[in-house]
Amino acid sequence: MKLSASSDPTHDVIASIVSLTEQRDQRSLEHSLVSTLEDMLDDIEGWLLEMPTENNRDAGCTMLHGDKSHLPNELLAQGCRLPNDILTCLVIQGGLTYRLAKLQDYEQGRHHMLILAKQQWSETDLQVVEGLVRVYHNFVGILFDSEKDTLTGLYNRRKLDSKLKDIANSRMQGRRQTDKDHADFLAILDLDRFKRINDNFGHLIGDEVLLIFSNILSRTLRESDLIFRYGGEEFVVLLQDISGQTVKDVLERVRRNVENHDFPQVGKVTVSIGYAALESQVLPIQTMEKSDRALYYAKDHGRNRVCNFDQLLAEGELEGLHQDGSIELF
Ligand code: GH3
Ligand code: MG
Ligand code: MG
Repeated sequence: MKLSASSDPTHDVIASIVSLTEQRDQRSLEHSLVSTLEDMLDDIEGWLLEMPTENNRDAGCTMLHGDKSHLPNELLAQGCRLPNDILTCLVIQGGLTYRLAKLQDYEQGRHHMLILAKQQWSETDLQVVEGLVRVYHNFVGILFDSEKDTLTGLYNRRKLDSKLKDIANSRMQGRRQTDKDHADFLAILDLDRFKRINDNFGHLIGDEVLLIFSNILSRTLRESDLIFRYGGEEFVVLLQDISGQTVKDVLERVRRNVENHDFPQVGKVTVSIGYAALESQVLPIQTMEKSDRALYYAKDHGRNRVCNFDQLLAEGELEGLHQDGSIELF
């Protein structure tokens, strides 16, 4: 929704909140915040920047919105020093007064910075900025919670669907593979004989097993790997930019760590894993189908195994998929 200029300030504020809360991801919410403020306040200039992280201070800022040449360098240094809990702060430089707000990136632990410059700030201008930044923070918190599984705190299926859509879109835009020995992989993990755990020990103990399993997963995988709870005792992992040998080793380590863990009351629990490479010419949903077939091969061949679809295909153990995801019958 585009804000229409109006002589009624109440109308403007409501229209801007409607516009902000129409967004469904943090990036578009940030862009909507800065353009809404530019639309609402007269003679204002806005910037959106990605700040270097704590352990990568030498990296420069990345400009996400606005003209970098208009922005004094000293201001960026001040922005980096802002504590996280401060919403806005006033800095005067070269006749302009700037307001800065740190926008936390929930997904990657990075910080984005909103900077606004104006010659004269009225009390109402300041209230509008502070108010909309608060609306942004509240709403981004709701968005973040809506992508999480309540039991394990991992991403949920809804987040997986949107991630797979993002991957499909970036592939259509022709994103290049940076290293030909590396690829992205999608693995599906399913706890073995989980129904028996519920039947023998009760649902609460079953839940505890799911929680411990998700902790083992998070501990064993890299921070950059994305973990989703896909269904009851089914999980999906996206391992990006990794070699075929490493992905095999990592998933094998997950399987072993689960097998070797002593689960309270239950004792031994095992997991079966199927995985496949996310190839550029294949839709991510078809890779899900491949990983699922590899998983069910693992289930049919003794469980507590890690199986790679492409390897099973090469060995003649599984049939290939047609472009539409159905099985090849020869
Ligand atoms: P397999 O080795 O073939 O995967 O056998 P399984 O018993 O793990 O598979 P099945 O699909 O038959 O059973 C899955 C069970 O997971 C059934 C369901 O009661 C249980 N389950 C699903 N969601 C939850 C949950 O949130 N908490 C608990 N405790 N159990 C769940
Ligand atoms: Mg299952
Ligand atoms: Mg199972």
